[in-house]
Amino acid sequence: MAEAKKEDKKPKKVEKFKEAEKFCPKCGVRMGVHADRYTCGRCRYTEWKKPA
Ligand SMILES: [Zn+2]
Repeated sequence: MAEAKKEDKKPKKVEKFKEAEKFCPKCGVRMGVHADRYTCGRCRYTEWKKPA
């Protein structure tokens, strides 16, 4: 490990996302809602939003 660590001075963007009232069919936790999909933070299950 000879590589030097580069420091990232960029401020981290705090991304707030609403939690949908949608639950993971695999583990039952509430899924996070994104612009085009829902994702489970536990098992990474992803469900794409269907166009209306
Ligand atoms: Zn899950």
